Amino acid sequence: MAKTILVVLMFMLGMTYGRKMVDLTHTLDENAPKYPLSYFGLTNFTYYNVKTIAEEYIGDMWLALRTMEFYEHQGTHIDAPNHFGNGRQALNEIPTEKLIGPGVIIDIKDKARANPDYAVTVDDIKEHEAEHGLIPPNSIIIMNSGWGYKYPNHQLVFGTENITDPRSFRFPGWSIEACEMLLNERQVSVLGVDTPSTDPGQADEYYCHMLLQPNDVPLLEYVANLDSVPQRGTTIVLGTMKVRRGTGGPTRIFALIDDQDQTYFNSAETMAYQTLIVSCAVIIEYFVHKFLF
Ligand SMILES: [Zn+2]
Repeated sequence: MAKTILVVLMFMLGMTYGRKMVDLTHTLDENAPKYPLSYFGLTNFTYYNVKTIAEEYIGDMWLALRTMEFYEHQGTHIDAPNHFGNGRQALNEIPTEKLIGPGVIIDIKDKARANPDYAVTVDDIKEHEAEHGLIPPNSIIIMNSGWGYKYPNHQLVFGTENITDPRSFRFPGWSIEACEMLLNERQVSVLGVDTPSTDPGQADEYYCHMLLQPNDVPLLEYVANLDSVPQRGTTIVLGTMKVRRGTGGPTRIFALIDDQDQTYFNSAETMAYQTLIVSCAVIIEYFVHKFLF
């Protein structure tokens, strides 16, 4: 019996690892957009600095290594709750349960194309739920505005010629009402965008950060490749760095498609398949023992 359980567990693990995986991460390099800190009076700041320590043969041994200095909030990254929540969880303190969860992609591409200042509404969420069902608690919910295609062009990403002036920014984000609903009625685990900020470029204040982060909700910014994943039927995994006192950091974001054929099962169907597999394995083992040994 123990052997059967082991075999079944390995099989199920194989199913997990065999799932189609989509990388939702832009490559981090010197072109990665960064929020203009000059606006906050922070001008003396190196955003991205790479030094090569070794790139050579030492005898017949090849050795390459570099040091890196970069801004915590550059390119595809997570905002730890302590970014806008005084004394809240730092990057190394985000519970691991928050770093994996059902993926929910809210597609507002048409609206964002017509209006770059668009803020996702409660009605957009309800429209999504009417088609895909209620958003489960502890989901990783990400806006797909089509902005990923503009990356890393700073003028296009910030929607302005003057990228040092945040008052001129024009890119979509979440409305305060949508944030309140997702926090209080949907128990959102992590909220994300494919733009520079969860708050739209034209917002007067960072209301989304100010509401969610003191409630220990991490945020994701510059999420990539959202057209390559279904709006539901994925498990999203956040490979954050684990930096003590970090306020955020570059994050590798993976979406695991919940079934390989991309005919998306709901979790009840997945359970039914797994139960079937376990039952078959137990029956096979019974016959193997009875007739062969
Ligand atoms: Zn950030």
